[in-house]
Amino acid sequence: MTTGRFAPSPTGTLHLGNLRTALASWLSAKARGGRWLIRMEDVDGPRCQRESGEQQLRDLAALGLESGASVVWQSGRSEAYGTALQRLHGQDRLYPCHCTRKDLQSLASAPHEEEGLRPYPGHCRTRPWEGFEAALRLRLPEGPLDWVDLCLGSQSDNPAGLTGDPLLFRRDGCIAYHLAVVVDDGFQGVDEVVRGADLRSVTATQIRLQEALGLPRPAYAHLGLVTAPDGTRLGKRAGALGLAALQQRGISTEELIGWLGWSLGCLERPEPCALQELVPRFGWMKVPRGNVALPETWA
Ligand code: GLU
Repeated sequence: MTTGRFAPSPTGTLHLGNLRTALASWLSAKARGGRWLIRMEDVDGPRCQRESGEQQLRDLAALGLESGASVVWQSGRSEAYGTALQRLHGQDRLYPCHCTRKDLQSLASAPHEEEGLRPYPGHCRTRPWEGFEAALRLRLPEGPLDWVDLCLGSQSDNPAGLTGDPLLFRRDGCIAYHLAVVVDDGFQGVDEVVRGADLRSVTATQIRLQEALGLPRPAYAHLGLVTAPDGTRLGKRAGALGLAALQQRGISTEELIGWLGWSLGCLERPEPCALQELVPRFGWMKVPRGNVALPETWA
């Protein structure tokens, strides 16, 4: 069965951009008659709070975005991530990394920088294996990788040049986002990943990791971001605009759904709408590729 998912990190309120991503992933799954899952990505211990995740689930439910299946919290999945690391080590794909954050920051001048990413230059690549206590990186093969984005079209990236070898495990025991996301999409049978365009540039790296773990490649859709009314990056206050803040401004659930549905190409005008009405109108061909500006009156 086709399976979509929304995978927020419980580090604060779901803002408008997150709600738009959640809706798009839900609509796409429903339009295909598939399942829709919610996964809480709480591997980054100190930054993630259970209550924050619970509130996110309440906000999603208030919009009607509910999954029939139980929510997976990544903090309970350490064993699966450990098994994946063992498997990668079995293929000699991991190496210990001793670089400090400072070492890495001093690489700011790396010439090949895209979207703020600084590829890891491979200082520790030839270090011999030291066990699972060290920070661990995945050795990426060189070469381009072609993939198709449902929203952005054909993509071609060289992950080795774009991100360099990704860190999968930190010395403090923390599992990296890349590993958790790839292992869990595979485990949950996710065949469509919908997320913000700010994660587009790490996708090829995650595909390489899937390949190394023998996992199938899902379809990807990277959605444009929600910007300020004038098209600039959202400031801190407006950036945190979530359901509660919108309700305080007198915006109803139907208005919000209508605006989100319009921003995803389902409606001709941003007018109040019920969630279910959007399902037959959704199609990736109609979703605009670019960013979408917050309405003047909501900012
Ligand atoms: N948990 C990630 C975030 O909230 C998203 C991961 C994904 O959708 O692949 O930024």
